[in-house]
Amino acid sequence: MTDNIAKKVRELVRPEICALKAYHVPDAAGLIKLDAMENPYSWPEDLRQEWLEVLRNVSLNRYPDPNADALRKNLRSALSVPVGMEVLLGNGSDELIQIILMALARPGAVVLAPTPTFVMYEMIATFVGMKFVGVPLTRDFALDMPAMLKNMETHKPAVIFLAYPNNPTGNLFARKDIETLIQKAPGLVVLDEAYHAFAGQSFMDQLGRHDNLLVMRTLSKQGLAGLRLGVLAAPLAWVTEFNKVRLPYNIGNLSQASAQFALKHLNLLDDQARRIRAEREKLLLALTKMSGLRIWPSQTNFILFHVENHDANKVFESLRARGVLIKNLNSSGGMLQGCLRVTVGTPEENAAFLKALEAAL
Ligand code: PMP
Repeated sequence: MTDNIAKKVRELVRPEICALKAYHVPDAAGLIKLDAMENPYSWPEDLRQEWLEVLRNVSLNRYPDPNADALRKNLRSALSVPVGMEVLLGNGSDELIQIILMALARPGAVVLAPTPTFVMYEMIATFVGMKFVGVPLTRDFALDMPAMLKNMETHKPAVIFLAYPNNPTGNLFARKDIETLIQKAPGLVVLDEAYHAFAGQSFMDQLGRHDNLLVMRTLSKQGLAGLRLGVLAAPLAWVTEFNKVRLPYNIGNLSQASAQFALKHLNLLDDQARRIRAEREKLLLALTKMSGLRIWPSQTNFILFHVENHDANKVFESLRARGVLIKNLNSSGGMLQGCLRVTVGTPEENAAFLKALEAAL
């Protein structure tokens, strides 16, 4: 029976899917969770009560507004989406990447991105049968422009993803390099600004100046990861097509109502982002003072570091044994060999991380 199923699976499921490993989310129970770029702060109790009152009036027996019109209107103003541009919502920006690629997935179509970068660009390209071309960043994690241009010429990518700032390297690529890519790209260029709250730089105001530019944001890093809400801002002609691929009702009632509520308290979200940026600088300074590490500057809410004289896997395990979960990038290989990534937490969490790291080195 088991052999039969295995045979049938291999027969029916596409080989490139069989070859994949599912996106791994480690169990964080009982650990200080500094692995997933979440915002460590919750809302004050009075605000939580107010939010629960809002949820009390949400009708779970009804389907949500399929287009989330009211929410899109408020997001447009909260994110300063230029007049004339459209907004499409996804169940996290992960779903937006999937929507874009489903719409573009002709046989042989290519997705291009500098690497290392956010792994879902490549994974979703594979899901939808597109070819992924990764162009290595330079040693200081800048765009390798000659290589990018050459690969663009060779592969004529339907879409280029640029995480701005990039995950897992934490840096912003040079603006003029990105402008060159937008101008020369034969297809779309998606600026994935997931970490915008910690970087302050954006291409949002460039929307509309280039027909092929799309800007993606998410509320996940601003304390709303549990909501799953991604936002794509783009010219209407693109959004019209992407909307056909989007499943109806992809943003649930509870998410729409909660996001609406959160947008009324943007000052709180901004304040939390400011605290995270300040903590990031303190954490960077503390890490710089430790010997045996190479640390990269960060424009995000995480820090990438290389363990010089120790086995990164052992350091990662030792941190976990001491109750701190970070992200082990060692097995990604290439430039990430020996690298670990820590998300900026509360002052107490960061102190616990530093203490555990000191003990592990
Ligand atoms: N883009 C980048 C660059 C990311 O790092 C992440 C999350 N790690 C995402 C998108 C996905 O975010 P969301 O929670 O909105 O799906």
